[in-house]
Amino acid sequence: MFPNDRLEFWFRGQGLWAHVPQDKWKNWRWQIQNRLTSLEQLQEFMSLTPDELQGCTHARSKLSLAITPYFFNLIDRENPDCPIRKQVIPRGDEALTFPEEMLDPVGEEGAMVAPGLVHRYPDRVLFLVTDRCASYCRYCTRSRLVSNAQDYNFQPQYQAALEYIENHTEVRDVLLSGGDPLMLNDVKIDYLLGRLRAIPHVEFIRIGSRIPVFMPQRITPELGDIFKKHGPIWLSIHVNHPHECTQELKEACDILAFSGVPIGNQSVLLDGVNDNVDTMKSLIHRLLIMRVRPYYLYQCDLITGSRHLRADVKKGIELIQALRGHTTGYAIPQFVIDAPDGGGKIPINPEYVKSITEEEIIMRNYEGFEYRYPRVKKATPHTSFQTGNIASVKTTCECR
Ligand SMILES: *Cc1c(COP(=O)(O)O)cnc(C)c1O
Repeated sequence: MFPNDRLEFWFRGQGLWAHVPQDKWKNWRWQIQNRLTSLEQLQEFMSLTPDELQGCTHARSKLSLAITPYFFNLIDRENPDCPIRKQVIPRGDEALTFPEEMLDPVGEEGAMVAPGLVHRYPDRVLFLVTDRCASYCRYCTRSRLVSNAQDYNFQPQYQAALEYIENHTEVRDVLLSGGDPLMLNDVKIDYLLGRLRAIPHVEFIRIGSRIPVFMPQRITPELGDIFKKHGPIWLSIHVNHPHECTQELKEACDILAFSGVPIGNQSVLLDGVNDNVDTMKSLIHRLLIMRVRPYYLYQCDLITGSRHLRADVKKGIELIQALRGHTTGYAIPQFVIDAPDGGGKIPINPEYVKSITEEEIIMRNYEGFEYRYPRVKKATPHTSFQTGNIASVKTTCECR
């Protein structure tokens, strides 16, 4: 269904912007300046469904509309169900609110120790360094502040945040996010990374960014040199569908990898985008080709106006079950729910442990066969114990 060796999936070219000189197209500032940010601009290039028309008219009071020309080219304009389209073009349902939904679905405001700095886990902090992105994901977990459509007036205070980190010696890992940290120019990124690296107890820095996906032109050799200088830097990108894996993203990942930056991927499980096995398998296989290690698969947070995009949690469990053992272990992300009210990320797994008794663990393999393995008993050595397959009992794979 998604043959990874078919070149047309990787090579997209300039598409609708074929007339633009290549040096402009490859310049990330040109990509930012030429983003599609209004209903009128979208309509110049495609016809919208009534649902999208409604979305573009009403939903922008919640989260701005912006799509880079590069990413817009990945949309199948003839297909209203295009999985790329669903991620960035607002739909009417964004204006709906359901009782389970929240403006701050993972309780970040309650853990904010300085403007922009979230300290929820014992040894690491989340540092929101900007509220701007290259394009806006319609299911954004921080839509309350990102793009400032809701008048949050987000003002990260770098000095206060840096001082907090300097004063908290337990913080060994700083995760830069936002908005998208790579919206900052090279000088600012160099400055921030330099300040953080100067703190002795900060062991390494992480960056969460969708810019390699929305605007791979931003990943220049110069940026790679900055990362090399301040390493170890780890970077998490956000790819949801195999069609986002392009030649341009691959080249951006090359620059990052050869600058010594290990790359992870965080996907969000989205209805009709990546909630089926074939799509997810193709995605994670392509990620490995680009040297990207799938890190997390997120159950979509309970963000206001997101129900039409949220897939059922049971689908996520089934997906992981269909992958584990069936494909490369490196390719399999950890499925998590970021718990409401600041509970943090909780791993959600298919059940492989059938029981643990005083004597043994009984477990199920990826094919559904049961196996037993003894507990360690230091005092009394086992006299006889039958390990291994239990008389080829096969149970159906049951989700918790
Ligand atoms: C996700 C997150 C982190 C990082 O979590 P890891 O599981 O270490 O990747 C840190 N702080 C906050 C507030 C987060 O939401």
